[in-house]
Amino acid sequence: MKSWVVDQPGPVDDGPLVRIDRAVPEAGPGEVRVRVRTCGVCRTDLHLAEGDLAPRHPLVAPGHEVVGVVDQLGPGSTRWHVGDRLGVPWLAHTCGICRFCVSGRENLCVAPRFTGWDLDGGYAPYTVVDEAYAYALPEEFDDVEAAPLLCAGIIGYRALQRANLPDGGRLGIYGFGGSAHLTAQIALAHGARVHVMTRSREAQQLALELGAASAGEADAPPPEPLDSAILFAPVGSLVPPALAALDRGGTLAIAGIYLSDVPALNYEQHLFEERTVRSVTANTRRDGEEFLAEAARIRMRVSAVAYPMERADAALRDLRHDRVNGAAVLVA
Ligand SMILES: [Zn+2]
Ligand SMILES: [Zn+2]
Repeated sequence: MKSWVVDQPGPVDDGPLVRIDRAVPEAGPGEVRVRVRTCGVCRTDLHLAEGDLAPRHPLVAPGHEVVGVVDQLGPGSTRWHVGDRLGVPWLAHTCGICRFCVSGRENLCVAPRFTGWDLDGGYAPYTVVDEAYAYALPEEFDDVEAAPLLCAGIIGYRALQRANLPDGGRLGIYGFGGSAHLTAQIALAHGARVHVMTRSREAQQLALELGAASAGEADAPPPEPLDSAILFAPVGSLVPPALAALDRGGTLAIAGIYLSDVPALNYEQHLFEERTVRSVTANTRRDGEEFLAEAARIRMRVSAVAYPMERADAALRDLRHDRVNGAAVLVA
């Protein structure tokens, strides 16, 4: 099969992603093989291709928002049937025995494995997944719409929990791409007033269409103090303005796996009055189940731009240069 892999990590315009021939993988014990129908393009794929995230092994196939159909059951696999549609997410495996796994915090597992980083992902015709980590997908979403839910959606959902938004509260969202436009809809469905800060005019427009109360420049102060903020842009220099925008007792959650350096903070301006800054690390399977149910319940609108699988490199370049409004999705 033809699979995209990360060859030499580097600037995405220099072609770090190449397409190679490799054998179709076989499902091992407890695994299923999935014929890929669509695969979302996550910013993490870009960080991997560009070397912001160190590769866990050479020639890894990216892609951890995979929608596909089970086409082979590994020995002992019982959860799925051949022909089932399922989703393959970022969290591929946890140890199940560390202090985090046994206390309901498997997102902090000390020995996790991730799809498209440790294990080959969905930028390929086939991938395999541990049956216990795949998701059933709500029928409300077609294959293109469902893909971004699997990381952008789930991680955004966790970020929203981490941001401690009170019911009816004021939420600031910094950066408005694949993850943010989904997360905003959950907050809005719970009565929040949402303010979006992004440099992209198209993203500002999308935010307003979805019901945001305001949309302005990336580092501009929102029109009112915030109870909570989520930083989706991987831009550390936005941490101080986001903290400054918080009301007393407010919380900033940083959603990304990668962030450029945070500049010096001023205690009085950015932290005093019990403002809190928190990171978000992966997700639990429970986060994923809760999010997918919620997405179906609120009939979440997914803004997706489809690319043929052969153009995965172009999709990554477009993501890098802010030319994707919403989420890019590869179609096999
Ligand atoms: Zn563990
Ligand atoms: Zn992701």
